[in-house]
Amino acid sequence: MILKAFPRRKTRKIYIGKIPVGGDAPVSIQSMTTTQTHDVSATVEQIKRLADAGCDIVRVTVPTLKDAQSIPEIRAQSPVPIIADIHFDHRVALKVLECGIDCLRINPGNISKIEYLEAIIKSAKSKNIPMRIGVNSGSLEPSILQKYGAPSAAALVESALQCVSLLEGLEFQNFKLSIKSSNVVTMISAYRMISEKIDYPLHLGVTEAGTVEAGTVKSAIGIGTLLAEGIGDTIRVSLTADPVEEVSVARSILQAVGHRRDRAEIIACPTCGRCDIDLINLTKRIEEEVKDLKTDMTIALMGCVVNGPGEAREADLGIAAGKDAAVLFRKGEIIKRIEEEDLEAELIKAIREEVKNHPPENRLCGR
Ligand code: SF4
Repeated sequence: MILKAFPRRKTRKIYIGKIPVGGDAPVSIQSMTTTQTHDVSATVEQIKRLADAGCDIVRVTVPTLKDAQSIPEIRAQSPVPIIADIHFDHRVALKVLECGIDCLRINPGNISKIEYLEAIIKSAKSKNIPMRIGVNSGSLEPSILQKYGAPSAAALVESALQCVSLLEGLEFQNFKLSIKSSNVVTMISAYRMISEKIDYPLHLGVTEAGTVEAGTVKSAIGIGTLLAEGIGDTIRVSLTADPVEEVSVARSILQAVGHRRDRAEIIACPTCGRCDIDLINLTKRIEEEVKDLKTDMTIALMGCVVNGPGEAREADLGIAAGKDAAVLFRKGEIIKRIEEEDLEAELIKAIREEVKNHPPENRLCGR
């Protein structure tokens, strides 16, 4: 299967551990643990679940020096690079940099003194540790908020450009940037504006996007729109849910815009009065069957002869249903007619046979 993806804007490349971000690197998926970071076993267990789900880079919060002390052990056990997320306390950032970390995320707007920020950047530079500079609508500098009156796209961009200028003034360029807003329109506008002004890698996300349904819709629109315009090098879907769900949604977004094909794509009709089989439940069962398969296979599940044969022929495997039965297609050829009672079992058998011919596309190095 040839990837049909939107072209991406050229950015600089940095490395978070072994994972390249920016330049010609595939768009990577990030998520964040929800555990107490000083609880090493719980944190590592969640990181491993995220990695198994397809997460490339995991961020952990480091609110205290006690949490910072657990970072070396977490990194030693983690299958993916770790980003330390630090707010307010520059001493924690310096401690993590001293212990060793794959990347440091800070929001310059909430580091209280410029000297503290300079000390963090100086240490990261001396250890060649990349940083993510995160500007967020919820924590803009008071002076910028006062100037713009609200955390608008222009306000976010001005804050981000000030950070970029500060880092460049210290001859530090090993960073990526995020400018997140909980408002999708603001988020899209801010990333569009900043991408015209800088070529540092951009980390995309709609912050505080909400629960699974609302957060998925907002993230798909915000992240998806920008990726379709060629903007974005790494993404995080932010959900008020088990973070493993964030990874699943992120994979679906990347698949929808053609950046990855590492899970089966199901094309299914919504059904209507013409459909004579229980296609809705069949689709649910097939989706469950294929959800963990690493493959670029397309499977069409169609309810009748109106669009069924056309979609089924285009897919790697497909069915077009008729009266209490369906016709099975493989690579555009009719294989056989199957009675409805045998449809699920026959389809699963055909999927298992076919999957070896469709390895995933565009997987990241190190995974
Ligand atoms: Fe209805 Fe057939 Fe279209 Fe499915 S493919 S929605 S059953 S007309």
